[in-house]
Amino acid sequence: MKRKIVQIIFIVLSVLGLITVNYTMFIVFLISSLILGPFFCGWLCPLGFAQDILSKIGKFLHLPRIRVNKNVERVIKFSRYILFIFILFGFSFAILLDSPYRVFAGVLSWNFKFISISSWVIFGILMIIGLFIERPFCRYLCFEGARYGAVSTLRIFSINREVKTCINCKKCDKECPMQVNISTVKHVRDPSCINCLECINSCPVEGCLTYNFVLNKINKEIK
Ligand code: SF4
Ligand code: SF4
Ligand code: SF4
Repeated sequence: MKRKIVQIIFIVLSVLGLITVNYTMFIVFLISSLILGPFFCGWLCPLGFAQDILSKIGKFLHLPRIRVNKNVERVIKFSRYILFIFILFGFSFAILLDSPYRVFAGVLSWNFKFISISSWVIFGILMIIGLFIERPFCRYLCFEGARYGAVSTLRIFSINREVKTCINCKKCDKECPMQVNISTVKHVRDPSCINCLECINSCPVEGCLTYNFVLNKINKEIK
């Protein structure tokens, strides 16, 4: 609930023009991702918020929830990094990616005039998919999230699991919108993590999952 309030406040401040998401701010988000993880994705991004709401609507309507097979997810989650590399090297086929961002920019500036019909259509398709799959755009297409995710693998604050107290119920894995594997690692260093902290909220054992200073950079899989 706290997260939803922060997300709504950020959108309202943006729409009122009290916060401007400009290049400098993206640099700040990038540096903070390097230290704290991508809080922008989990707590501020309007596109992420829109997908969270659609997921809630999907659940409310009892629509089927699609959890992508673990092995398939391991491979297809690289799509956003591949797309990011293509964009870095100037390939301009990114109309598909650009489209939802135009809507995103429109929301932040409260100016929808420059958004083409095709942008709305692609955005709409993604949002419909979001009724069935958690954060599809974030997971497979977003180059901004790819950037934050890549640097966040070096983060010094992250989700820490107390192996001794963990009862292996796997609720954390089930609640994670990005399908990050939490229940078998000591701490989360997955570039897909958006720092939403839903895993911590879902854990039934108090103090088992915490957002903490993480010294050890190596994260072997442990049961
Ligand atoms: S991955 Fe992209 S769309 Fe998703 S929350 Fe992060 S910046 Fe926003
Ligand atoms: S549920 Fe936990 S591991 Fe998954 S994205 Fe949110 S903070 Fe990261
Ligand atoms: S929700 Fe908590 S107790 Fe259950 S598997 Fe995850 S970390 Fe362990």
